[in-house]
Amino acid sequence: MQNFPELAKSFRYNAKIKNWFDLDCRAEILFRPKNIEELSIFLKNYRNKNEIKIIGATSNIIFKDNVIKGVIIKLPKYFSDISHNDSELSVGCSALCQNLALYCAINNLGNLEFYSGIPGSIGGAIAMNAGCYGSETANFLQEVTAISYQGNIEIIPNSDFNFKYRSNAIAKKANKIFLMAKYKVAKCEEGVVEKKIRDLKDKRKQAQPISAKTGGSTFKNPPKQKAWELIDGANCRGLSCGDAQISTKHCNFLINNSKASAQDLLNLIKLVKKKVYSKYGIKLEEEIKIY
Ligand SMILES: Cc1cc2nc3c(=O)[nH]c(=O)nc-3n(C[C@H](O)[C@H](O)[C@H](O)COP(=O)(O)OP(=O)(O)OC[C@H]3O[C@@H](n4cnc5c(N)ncnc54)[C@H](O)[C@@H]3O)c2cc1C
Repeated sequence: MQNFPELAKSFRYNAKIKNWFDLDCRAEILFRPKNIEELSIFLKNYRNKNEIKIIGATSNIIFKDNVIKGVIIKLPKYFSDISHNDSELSVGCSALCQNLALYCAINNLGNLEFYSGIPGSIGGAIAMNAGCYGSETANFLQEVTAISYQGNIEIIPNSDFNFKYRSNAIAKKANKIFLMAKYKVAKCEEGVVEKKIRDLKDKRKQAQPISAKTGGSTFKNPPKQKAWELIDGANCRGLSCGDAQISTKHCNFLINNSKASAQDLLNLIKLVKKKVYSKYGIKLEEEIKIY
């Protein structure tokens, strides 16, 4: 990359990575491209594609090592613009879901109220098909502008994603960065969206440890089952390994009580899976990403 001195300021070395679990971790190299041109130059010229990782708001990741090898890419604020017309909304993928919900409330646009309680970015929400309370990203996403790890820009329609519960075929390949998304929105009467958001937030506050150091749901719900019920039934509510604990408020939330290490979190995940399997014969699958 020494042939591109204009990019130098966008790289940081041994950079601290803030994350929701508050684990102590650093990126060997952190790249925060100022704009699409910088991102494209980097991707077209950086040969070790398997060393690239893209992160959003890190609300669904456990970093298993203190130092993450390779290049971590995190889109900066430049990629967070939001605009709309009556039925379509465009948003940059570094925007936070909660800010998008707020924008929708201010502009009386319905459909995306469920984003109000999801602490991730739009890029992360697309990758994870994030959802709650009966709605998910796939329901309203129209298309995504992405850049491949080869540096080519493409527009991907919803139908190409083959969305499934908390996953999709494109994100699984881990060779594209989502830059901008378009959503279907519906014009609503003044105050309707705001009220829906308030109700959803109240509901969440009662059921989830939202101010804890956590990563949201740890395990996917197995078909026709609820992960939290299986975890509860296997006597794992409040179970801990070191400073990592299964939340007493919501059994599918793993929390860092104070100084948990990644190993504490991973040991606890292993223990819960073992206990659920021995009680129900069901193999829980992680929703959370382990990097
Ligand atoms: C308190 C709390 C509550 C939560 N509640 C919910 C909930 O109700 N519903 C729900 O679905 N989730 C929930 N989550 C989990 C999490 O917020 C979502 O999965 C969210 O969509 C992750 O977004 P992120 O930006 O934090 O992604 P990250 O955690 O940074 O990354 C997650 C994945 O997305 C990929 N990714 C991120 N950005 C991009 C991009 N621009 N292009 C391509 N890939 C990208 C990453 O490579 C990674 O594989 C919760 C988490 C917490 C901490």
